[in-house]
Amino acid sequence: MPDSHDDAPSRPVRRLPSLRRKLSLVLGGLALLILTLVGGYLGWMATRGLHEAQQTAVRTTAQFAAELLASELRDREREIELLSAAPHLVEGALDAPGVRGSLERRMAQHDEFAWMGVASADGTVLQASGGQLVGRSVADRPWFIEGREHTHVGDVHEAKLLASLVPARPDGEPTRFIDFAAPIRDRTGRLRGVVAAHAQWHWVVGMVESVTRRHSPDSGMEALILDRQGRVLYPQALKVAQAADARVLPRPASGRFEGRHDIDGQPYLTWEEPVQARTRADLGWRIVVRQPLALALRPVRELQRELVLLGLLAAAALTLAALLLARRISRPVEQLARMAERVQAERRMPEFPDQAAVRELARLGDAMGGMARALLATERELREANQTLDAQVAQRTAELQAANAALAHLATRDPLTGLHNRRSLDARLAEALALDRRYGPQSGRVHGLLLVDADHFKRINDEFGHAAGDAVLRQLATVLQSCVRTTDVVARFGGEEFAVLLPELADAREAMRAAEKIRSTVAAATFPGVGPVTVSCGVTLAWPGDVDAQALVERADVALYEAKRGGRNMVVLKAAS
Ligand code: GH3
Ligand code: MG
Ligand code: MG
Repeated sequence: MPDSHDDAPSRPVRRLPSLRRKLSLVLGGLALLILTLVGGYLGWMATRGLHEAQQTAVRTTAQFAAELLASELRDREREIELLSAAPHLVEGALDAPGVRGSLERRMAQHDEFAWMGVASADGTVLQASGGQLVGRSVADRPWFIEGREHTHVGDVHEAKLLASLVPARPDGEPTRFIDFAAPIRDRTGRLRGVVAAHAQWHWVVGMVESVTRRHSPDSGMEALILDRQGRVLYPQALKVAQAADARVLPRPASGRFEGRHDIDGQPYLTWEEPVQARTRADLGWRIVVRQPLALALRPVRELQRELVLLGLLAAAALTLAALLLARRISRPVEQLARMAERVQAERRMPEFPDQAAVRELARLGDAMGGMARALLATERELREANQTLDAQVAQRTAELQAANAALAHLATRDPLTGLHNRRSLDARLAEALALDRRYGPQSGRVHGLLLVDADHFKRINDEFGHAAGDAVLRQLATVLQSCVRTTDVVARFGGEEFAVLLPELADAREAMRAAEKIRSTVAAATFPGVGPVTVSCGVTLAWPGDVDAQALVERADVALYEAKRGGRNMVVLKAAS
């Protein structure tokens, strides 16, 4: 099979993608797709969960702070009510020293109160903690005016009368109070005076801060206290800033701080919760808890970063796994392809890989091995058959050549004597005349022809039998051949007559010498069982005037006839005339 035919299918094969590459792409792509979908979904769920948890933390902080504040305000309100109904105030003298003692005992228990005191019905302070403001008139103070009628809880305000008496705050904030007051009535219901307490503002602030402090300072979570009008009461810095610029804490369009809000150009997670005491202590305050979105979402961002990192690691692991799997699946196929190529190239059975990963590949390997063995065996048989055929052809050819040679011999030879037969002689004569016509004139050499006839041969036959005659003819042939050169053509002309064609004679003498040699040798020879035998010989030379070989033969025949007539056992030359 020619090489070009072998290579033909391999060229388009090289342009195809390899099984390993395709498997890697499909498996890797599939793994990455699943990873992206699952990872993306889980990440979305986790992110949403974390986001909601963060929002819940903001909301619960606000709710907790609001509830705490409401309950504490309610408690203080209740306390001042109970104090106003205490027997020593209802029945005893309001300016008695015991009243001051009881007020100071109360203050010792709770440090939120900066001042506690009892005023007479006309607004003169009768007794107070630390004796502060005793004898001063509070008739125009809102807590006294309201407290004469009913329990009063006053919104936060800066200290007026007490400002110089209460020590300044270390943080520089102004001293501010929340007033609690209740009327003191006797058994008949007549107003005896008003009992009041000034709670320090930083008591309220402390409560709110204690709630936000539960979260780590890194969380950035802070609580704001707003008044009924939405103005900032706390923190002081924001209160001051807001007083100067209304955009510091703009009211959201929804009316409530809930969810995401841009405050001061920064996004916040916010929640607003009203402080609802449901008594006179209901001051219409609201707690707003806010957390910068960047900090609120930090766990979310961290989770996302971790997820991405984890995803990348998983992707790398999956890609590696896909590559290994693809290699594991494709390697036996590649090995089988290599084996098949070796079978094709080397024409011998290679070692087939025996451990296949899956049954189908094992079957394929076995089948290919079997196929290769069968193919190679068939090929070997064909080769051997070819060799046998070649040998047979060679032998037949040799036989044929031998037969042809034998046939050619038979066609040109006389069967009895082995000399050239008449047909062969005719061919040689024609050849000789053609050569003489072509080269004779230049070379000066011509062909000569002898006709040799056994004398009285009929008698030999008659006397000794036909077989003896045959033997004589065979012996004559041998003698004739021994008397001429190998280049001379000796033929049986017919019956007991022979012809000798002598090439390249210089002249007739040469022909006469050859004829004479034949005649004398025959005459001298002994023919067993027959005795002496003689021959007569007619001699002639080719002549340019000869039309054909027949003319030459006829001339030699004339010469032979003359030799017979002349008495036999003689040689006669007949020159051309
Ligand atoms: P001459 O001297 O005039 O030639 O006399 P001759 O007897 O030789 O000639 P003739 O032509 O009368 O006789 C030839 C004989 O040769 C006749 C024939 O039987 C015999 N003859 C021809 N061919 C063969 C042959 O192949 N074998 C044998 N044994 N005899 C042959
Ligand atoms: Mg004769
Ligand atoms: Mg004769």
